[in-house]
Amino acid sequence: MTREAESRDELPDWAGAKEFYQKYDPKEIIGRGVSSTVRRCVHRETGREYAVKIIEVTPERLSPEQLHEVRMSTAKEMQILHQVSQHPYIITLIDSYESSTFIFLVFDLMKRGELFDYLTDKVKLSEKETRSIMRALLEAVSYLHNNNIVHRDLKPENILMDDCLNIKLSDFGFSCVLRPGEKLRELCGTPGYLAPEILRCSMEEAHPGYGKEVDLWACGVIMFTLLAGSPPFWHRRQMLMLRMIMDGRYEFTSPEWDDRSATVKDLICRFLQLNPEKRLTADQALQHPFFQSHQMEQGPSVTPYHRFRIAAWAALACVSILARWRRARPVTSELLIRDPYGIKGVRRLIDACAFRIYGHWVKKGERQNRAALFQHQAKALLLTLGEDPDEDGDI
Ligand code: ADP
Ligand code: MG
Repeated sequence: MTREAESRDELPDWAGAKEFYQKYDPKEIIGRGVSSTVRRCVHRETGREYAVKIIEVTPERLSPEQLHEVRMSTAKEMQILHQVSQHPYIITLIDSYESSTFIFLVFDLMKRGELFDYLTDKVKLSEKETRSIMRALLEAVSYLHNNNIVHRDLKPENILMDDCLNIKLSDFGFSCVLRPGEKLRELCGTPGYLAPEILRCSMEEAHPGYGKEVDLWACGVIMFTLLAGSPPFWHRRQMLMLRMIMDGRYEFTSPEWDDRSATVKDLICRFLQLNPEKRLTADQALQHPFFQSHQMEQGPSVTPYHRFRIAAWAALACVSILARWRRARPVTSELLIRDPYGIKGVRRLIDACAFRIYGHWVKKGERQNRAALFQHQAKALLLTLGEDPDEDGDI
């Protein structure tokens, strides 16, 4: 260790970082945020893997105001995380360390990463998969709202998945605790997921402000995106996209919606409700028919088109079984001698022998004939060996 590092060791504000590095071994980068880098890390003693969010608070990189802002918002994020971390669908904050230059937040590692990347791989999700993700997300949102916490940045990038594809809500950087009756005015979040009242509030001074309902609007945008593979409000020009949001202008017209149930569209409409007072709460949404068990058993995606396909397949399978049954002949000794290759069990035996002899599969037709192995006919055998007896006329 250098003299400089030794002297830094003695500084109390370096102690947090030292403690982190003594306990954890940081590895590769697994994600990046605006002012943070997230790395996989290994607990030195147990070898268990975690994720560490490293937030830079260096005076060289940030102005004093920015520094203050980052420190304050991280403190708020940590306080909320401590309060909600025990929920099964919310990321668990394991440890935190602070130094003069970095803040380290250690979380449980979500190995499959963001729901966003999962969706990118799969393009769009089935109603069944969407149901299980949305149910977990709404359980988490309900828990937050019942504790007067609003998340304000719900989006697939902040929903993380573990090995078994279970989800956990993360990134509480914009979340805040609401006092009874309190309304918010700050314009924050991610453009495509912003609720119309957040936008109106930033434009109209007389606007009363917004509340927890903004999270349910974002849930509607997420649900639409999971099922369609593209967001409901999107335009190359951001101003026009924000206009679409404020007008609540979106459509179920793309082909992805052809096979979707009316139930799922109904739930999305109830989330993407311009008037926040009319929007479903998380608890109400969990009571929607889309999440009811009888719906799960019936499978809401069994549309008339699916029913027709199932019926067509069933009819084809019956015809095929009938045709096979008609073709079936009893195995007699006469048949065994005359056409051994015609009997399935014997055919397998012949094929296995042919494979042993030639070291590769001998194809029927194409001047090769596996059946000839058991026919004791010189001409057929020669064909099997790839020679045409008619060519030289010896036989
Ligand atoms: P920011 O507030 O800067 O957006 P996040 O907390 O959202 O930071 O983390 C940024 C990214 O890092 C996430 O979108 C995700 O890809 C990755 N990440 C964060 N936490 C974890 C975790 N616990 N396990 C796996 N990846 C994570
Ligand atoms: Mg994030």
